Amino acid sequence: MLLVKKFGGSSLANNNLIFNAAKKIIADYKKKNKIVVVVSAQGNTTDELILKAQEINLSPAKRELDMFLVTGEIQSACLTAMAIHKLGYPAVSLNAFQAEILGLNNYGNSRIKKINPERILNELEKNNIVIITGFQAINFYNDFVTLGRGGSDTSAVALAAILNADLCEIYTDVDGIYTADPRIIKGAKKIKKINYDEMLELASLGTVVLHNRSVELAKKYNIKLVVKSSFNDNSGSLIGDEKMEGSLINGVAIDKNVAVISVIGLEDEPGMVFKLFALLSRKNICVDLIIQSIGRQNTKDISFTVAREFLNETVEMLKKNIDFFRYDHLIFDKTVAKLSVVGTGIASNPKISMMMFEAIYNQGINIKMISTSEIKISILIDEKEIESAANAVHKNLLENEIG
Ligand code: ASP
Ligand code: MG
Repeated sequence: MLLVKKFGGSSLANNNLIFNAAKKIIADYKKKNKIVVVVSAQGNTTDELILKAQEINLSPAKRELDMFLVTGEIQSACLTAMAIHKLGYPAVSLNAFQAEILGLNNYGNSRIKKINPERILNELEKNNIVIITGFQAINFYNDFVTLGRGGSDTSAVALAAILNADLCEIYTDVDGIYTADPRIIKGAKKIKKINYDEMLELASLGTVVLHNRSVELAKKYNIKLVVKSSFNDNSGSLIGDEKMEGSLINGVAIDKNVAVISVIGLEDEPGMVFKLFALLSRKNICVDLIIQSIGRQNTKDISFTVAREFLNETVEMLKKNIDFFRYDHLIFDKTVAKLSVVGTGIASNPKISMMMFEAIYNQGINIKMISTSEIKISILIDEKEIESAANAVHKNLLENEIG
């Protein structure tokens, strides 16, 4: 079998942990597997490197910052290879240049375009364990570029795809994917199996374990992913294709980075919604939940949510354009939060939304906005009530059997 094993920063944070990872790698190697390892920088190295750069220059040139940040992963890869040698096994470390991982030009936010696998295959042929730096690629100018924070997961999946790996294992400091954040929801349980789309929804809702793009890539190339802890031997969570029979509901997620804006008294005529959202899109502001009231007396109201850091900019922009839109006034609020449930059972089981709303009602909580899709229901409520609401919804939907 060809295995890609990715170790996150927390799994390599000190010498003992590097040896711990090395032993896990060697255990699989001894079973006659070909092994490609992808590593992140140790512990908080990337954060520390960013701070260090900013001590010199608060806004360092992106090219120089990328050149600097990739050293974190290079250190991890070399140290892991040295630990494997120390334990008596063959290994070679390769950076993005040596492994020929080619990416788009964008510094700080590149994407992998292509990987030329000759060198990697060559090293595997020589029976080496191949340790590759995550989070980095080489651009058209032969500069190092990084793939965005958390990007090592995406490096691992891209390598698994090009090498046609049988499995891509992501080692981290938690046991796998949970039905909710276990620090907030007491009844949170580990998910054994989940399909790509559900995982993408959970990832985008803030239950961050995997880099979003890694799941998109895994889906595209049908790569089986396992997320597991490097601190124990528990089985972890499997992320696979549509055909897997998952549960009706996979998880409950909280997003506190939400602000709501209501535009009251817009003219009720065709094109208003288009013009409003065209303005936001020109400024690259992503809108999430949207509701529009029924028109009355030739006016209507539109409410939508944006990430909190965009609230001021959005409000300013709307104020500046009041003559153009001819609305009456604006209302905005930062003290809201979004609660979502995700699962492939939502479209086919009307009980799920009923049980979610029942749990919210039993807590005496008022719902401000609702949005639904085939695999997701989101509601907007007061931020103060988000944790009790999430616990109640989790209890009603995931700690009871749904018939
Ligand atoms: N070291 C990088 C980061 O901290 C990449 C990664 O860990 O995936 O974002
Ligand atoms: Mg990560």
